[in-house]
Amino acid sequence: MLEFTEDNGAYEWWIAANPNQFVINAESSLRLDSMVLHKATCRTINGTPANGGAWIGAYVKICGTRRELEARYPTAKPCGLCLR
Ligand SMILES: [Zn+2]
Repeated sequence: MLEFTEDNGAYEWWIAANPNQFVINAESSLRLDSMVLHKATCRTINGTPANGGAWIGAYVKICGTRRELEARYPTAKPCGLCLR
């Protein structure tokens, strides 16, 4: 697993290079009930951030395989867009 907590450029590189992996999007506090699990290709965590913002900052990204993310953070909610 990789955690991106500061480096937006590194996250954008990773997400482009790993389309078959998964991402937990979480508040930077890592509050468990803020965590949502996405496919790396989900448009809510990939592409161009809304309003000229950055992906990393108020929210952080925890990246890896679905199995390892679900094992570490079993309470993360599946995204309603990409994991229905
Ligand atoms: Zn999603």
